[in-house]
Amino acid sequence: MRYLGLLGGMSWESTLHYYQQINEGVRERLGGLHSAPLLLHSVDFAPVADLQQRGEWQALGAQLACAAQGLVQAGARGLLLCTNTMHKVAPQIEAAVDVPLLHIADPTITALQAAGVRRVGLLATGFTMEQDFYRQRLAAAGLAVLLPDAADRSEVHRVIFDELCLGQVLAASRERYRAIIGRLQAAGAEAVILGCTEIGMLLQPEHSPLPLFDTTALHAAAAVTWLQGG
Ligand code: GLU
Repeated sequence: MRYLGLLGGMSWESTLHYYQQINEGVRERLGGLHSAPLLLHSVDFAPVADLQQRGEWQALGAQLACAAQGLVQAGARGLLLCTNTMHKVAPQIEAAVDVPLLHIADPTITALQAAGVRRVGLLATGFTMEQDFYRQRLAAAGLAVLLPDAADRSEVHRVIFDELCLGQVLAASRERYRAIIGRLQAAGAEAVILGCTEIGMLLQPEHSPLPLFDTTALHAAAAVTWLQGG
């Protein structure tokens, strides 16, 4: 297996799940004592979140491009950026290295298409829901993306940063998310993308009236396939 470099810590709560799921996937496929050859660059998330708030995406892109180069110098032959939001700067990272960045939206799109979903709700940070970089990739694949209304978007965003990124998984927030998914369903969504890598900590399939497509799980599975040369 080739080494895969993880750009993580955004937040570490979700990077932990990536690490576990990629290793579990390798063990399932190869058995025995096999585990995933990984390199991890884990950032301090506070200054990153600060720069996000201030819209300093160029600086964030430069920081992650530099981290990506370090991973490649250390032997990574592919990269995984363990956050949806920071895929806003994926082009800057890709331009800085000569190894593939496995984009988080791609396995999600493949899974949605395989399930025959055409109209999909998106739960994510405000940046991911409201800006173009993520929705455009989904739209280009023929998916109609439905967003929660402004009040619901701000609640989804608040729960991510004030709770999930701090490791707090609260039943009251799960109920609020369930209600938001209900409203997306009423608006015509056939499924929901958990488009933030921490939301899987809060919502499992049994909590939702619609099928859930968890970007962390799908991205980790794509990493396992890549590690095995796929
Ligand atoms: N992990 C989150 C995501 O998937 C949010 C944290 C961040 O802003 O990077 O978007």
